[in-house]
Amino acid sequence: MARWWEIRGWAIESPWQSSVTDLGSVSWASNATRIGSAAATNNDTRRLSSEPRLTRILGLRTLPLRSCSGRRSGGRGSPKVPYRDLGVKPMRPTLHDRTPEQLEALAHELGLPGYRGRQLAHGLYALGASSLDEMTDLPRSLREQLASDPGFCSVQTVDHQNDQAGTHKYLLAFADGAKVEAVAIPRGEEQRTFCISSQVGCRMACVFCATGRMGLLRQLSPGEIVAQVLFLRRHHPTKGNPNIVFMGMGEPMDNFDALSQALAILTHPEAVGLSARRITVSTSGLVDGIRRLRELGRPYGLAVSLTTADEEERKELMPLAAKTSIDDLLQEAAAYGRLMNRKVTLECALIAGRNDHPAHARRLLGLARRGPFKVNLIPLNPIDAYGGSRPGTDAVSAFADILWQGGVVCTVRDSAGRDIGGACGQLLHRQRRRDFDVDDE
Ligand code: SF4
Repeated sequence: MARWWEIRGWAIESPWQSSVTDLGSVSWASNATRIGSAAATNNDTRRLSSEPRLTRILGLRTLPLRSCSGRRSGGRGSPKVPYRDLGVKPMRPTLHDRTPEQLEALAHELGLPGYRGRQLAHGLYALGASSLDEMTDLPRSLREQLASDPGFCSVQTVDHQNDQAGTHKYLLAFADGAKVEAVAIPRGEEQRTFCISSQVGCRMACVFCATGRMGLLRQLSPGEIVAQVLFLRRHHPTKGNPNIVFMGMGEPMDNFDALSQALAILTHPEAVGLSARRITVSTSGLVDGIRRLRELGRPYGLAVSLTTADEEERKELMPLAAKTSIDDLLQEAAAYGRLMNRKVTLECALIAGRNDHPAHARRLLGLARRGPFKVNLIPLNPIDAYGGSRPGTDAVSAFADILWQGGVVCTVRDSAGRDIGGACGQLLHRQRRRDFDVDDE
């Protein structure tokens, strides 16, 4: 159901804002100071002290937080998290926000036969038209009408980089200027993995993440999520279907309604038509989101960013995600894996001298044996604003060996496009520095 969501003194009708599940008023500064007192490295402290300057330059302000969904909030999976309004307006729903059935309903609303809706779905999703003008099977007058209302979700390339391995990283802009990153990663000769974003920025504030340093600018609509897949498919066609991973900017479970609608469109046989098994949703640990994903009853892959098996260390590295205990998180993740008959991936960003010691590996092994889990190690892709560095290959190998010898499947992922600003959020961070002449915090 559509809800009214107020931002910067104006309101828009938006059906996908409903997963903003916090309550009360939380100040970014006070929250960050609290985090900083427990965990700040020198870089963290520098960042906190530069907050007023950033606020001045970007015109940020902290908004009161409230539940937009009517769902119970503040439970185990709803940590109090800061929301920073950067003044970027959420978009009105467009054609790409609709399933084929909803497009058919739209055709009826316009006094047209239902098959026009199916034609629309075919043109938008199966053919991946980049504008309504390409859909010449529709009458020109209808195309003109649809272009103005509800509109076409178009994306533009703001920046594009690629490396020798064939990874292509894009900074994409939507009609209102909001920007996200989307990456096409080669998988063998004929396949690709598309890594897409679910939010503009992210409120989870993981200290090692460039996107987390931005705060949440706005939620993406389902159509904006789908449009990233269509864009990448258009520019990087594959023989087989691509794999989709929600591991770009944002915490997908914090934008759950848009996520679930996007998943419905991506897997609809008359829309994008991907198998649920080809899609992996990653979360920093919002258990409400894992539960809701389970309730969808489709075997989507699930990846949980654990980062470390040590509770206190996790609070320092992922202060907001760690409001849910590791025990509760893994219990929910294991329940998901058992129901879907799939292994859940526990992801660990390995930071030199921080969480890469053999003792960390042994603790992680103990946790990973508790359920249907496998482990993915991701040596840190350092960012300027965080002092952590990437562990050496020997340390990573030793860590992985402990897991393998203990009977846990473990892979090591080299961050795709490391030499092209591969860490999530780095392209946008650089772009914003150019736009606003902002120093690294
Ligand atoms: S690692 Fe993921 S959840 Fe954490 S701040 Fe970055 S985008 Fe958000």
